[in-house]
Amino acid sequence: MAKGNFRYQVVQNVAGLLRGMTPHSPGTFDDRGMSDFTGLPISRRDFFDGVAMTAGVAAMASPDAALAADGALAADGSPAAGWSGAGVRGDTAQALGVPHALRDGRFWAHAEPGTPTGEEYDLVVVGGGVSGVSAAYEWLRRVPGARVLVLDNHDELGGHTRGEELRPGGWTGAAIRTPEARALVDELGVPTRTAARTESYDGVMCDRESFGIDALVPQGGDVAAWAARLPIAEQARRDLVRLHTDPPDWFPGLSHAEKEERLAGLTYSAFLLEVCRAHPDVERFCRTMPSAAWGYGTQAFGAIDAWGSSYPGFGGLGLDPGKPSRFNSPTVKQEWERPAYRLAGGVRSLVARMAERMPGARWRLSSPVVSVRNDGPGVVVGYFDGHAVRTVRAGAAILACWHMVIPYLVPDLPEDQRAALRQAVKMPLVEAVVRLRGPQEWRGRARWTGAYWTATEVDGSRAHLLAAPCLSELGPAAGAAAGRRALIRTPYAALEHSVRDQLGRLLGAGGFDPAGDIEAITVYRWGHGYAPEYCRPWHPFHPDGPTPAETARRRFGRIAIAGSDSVPAARADAAISSAHRAVAELTAG
Ligand SMILES: Cc1cc2nc3c(=O)[nH]c(=O)nc-3n(C[C@H](O)[C@H](O)[C@H](O)COP(=O)(O)OP(=O)(O)OC[C@H]3O[C@@H](n4cnc5c(N)ncnc54)[C@H](O)[C@@H]3O)c2cc1C
Repeated sequence: MAKGNFRYQVVQNVAGLLRGMTPHSPGTFDDRGMSDFTGLPISRRDFFDGVAMTAGVAAMASPDAALAADGALAADGSPAAGWSGAGVRGDTAQALGVPHALRDGRFWAHAEPGTPTGEEYDLVVVGGGVSGVSAAYEWLRRVPGARVLVLDNHDELGGHTRGEELRPGGWTGAAIRTPEARALVDELGVPTRTAARTESYDGVMCDRESFGIDALVPQGGDVAAWAARLPIAEQARRDLVRLHTDPPDWFPGLSHAEKEERLAGLTYSAFLLEVCRAHPDVERFCRTMPSAAWGYGTQAFGAIDAWGSSYPGFGGLGLDPGKPSRFNSPTVKQEWERPAYRLAGGVRSLVARMAERMPGARWRLSSPVVSVRNDGPGVVVGYFDGHAVRTVRAGAAILACWHMVIPYLVPDLPEDQRAALRQAVKMPLVEAVVRLRGPQEWRGRARWTGAYWTATEVDGSRAHLLAAPCLSELGPAAGAAAGRRALIRTPYAALEHSVRDQLGRLLGAGGFDPAGDIEAITVYRWGHGYAPEYCRPWHPFHPDGPTPAETARRRFGRIAIAGSDSVPAARADAAISSAHRAVAELTAG
């Protein structure tokens, strides 16, 4: 739905100086306003990541890091409290040095076996994202006064919720649908509002990467009117209008069940090109429609979920719009079945409130866990404290970290479980939160068709950009792995260049100067971002199962497995519910 202050723009070659910029070609950009990050400190962890140690060893976060550290939790979600200035956060080399060394077999070649700290806990939680914090909270709710330790490899609590408070308002919400998450939200008194079934964009930036020209076209209202403004072939315009307003029955003679099965075997790109025989510009125009929500584009997104998300082209099939298909992915099904609530302060406010109500719990940040083993009636957990491996004993452990890392932490897991855990290849994502010098004439959410940052939102003096580096044409898992490798090689300077470039192209017509009108850019790099959900056409076992996640999340002695990968679903409510399941498994006896 177009907003009142939205206006049609065509932006061509903004100020000349931004031409040809890509995240991989920083040298083409006028460097005015760019940050100097050559002086970044190198930590001891970098040693494990294969980076030479220098004299500038960084100060590690103190083992029991204070929650009020830079960018840390503010229950009111206050942006001023959280703004960290500029730079790269999220999955930094510091945070991933030890996990990567474990993966590559380098860690134990350099590290000594663990030295006991002498501490004993009732529960140790590995991973301080919303799932890990929920596990600690739920355990303490069931066993008041229990001794709980949460360990995380990052220097802040919150996992993927970090930086959330810096986003403009529209991005901070999580669709809370599961009963456990809803009850938690109510108990903590976090204000909510009901959410639309799917998020919409105010406009689409048909970009020069896709169409040779930048044209920001508002969405909503009469399709023929906005389609007339798109810089696409005339035939593509006609095809797009037809797909929206009057698509035929592409599968005449098939039953509804057979039609759904046909859709379940196709990606949305294949549906557009091979079934609808739409002009290639139509597919190019639609390609990034699912990117922000799913981490990949229509070359990987299933046609059945595109139907379930009301994408154009399906109106003539006669399928029942009142209920999902059995082939829809769980999240798309949920959008029909349960009302969604969004949180006023985002998931981060939920994490903050839980942490505040656990004064007895201990939080140990910058402390990657390197081993977890059953030992008699309990477990022994080893973590790297920045200098050496230390071990603590506990009655039980909940692994609320990424599935991919668990086989390296618990080497004696059964082989089928290790193989299942390795299948959770997360989607890489990058977020940039930008503090602008002043409010901009244009505000709203725009989807880009082919530029690096796939979604931008501008609201007052803040902008938020999201990139989905997955190479969708390879499919979700292979595309995620390839995209993650490319992301790791992309330096901050290149990301900063592309932020300035795209904001200049979006806002330039209103007088925005990308070199002078930006105060700070903070990039959150999430090499391991969204949990990969089971979707057709990629997972033929869906929906009948059994699924790899059922094998992957099996309890192993006094070790239970939580986290969004264990569902799998890239949603905070799913992460919370998985924590409740893990606590129930361990407290059941
Ligand atoms: C950019 C982005 C935006 C998102 N936006 C939304 C949204 O708006 N709404 C929504 O519902 N969902 C959103 N999600 C999905 C998000 O993944 C889930 O909502 C949820 O936050 C996942 O929580 P988690 O605890 O399962 O995982 P995480 O948040 O990833 O937490 C797991 C933690 O375990 C740590 N860890 C890993 N290995 C180790 C180790 N060896 N030792 C110690 N710690 C370890 C990780 O560093 C991490 O901090 C978003 C995700 C991303 C990446």
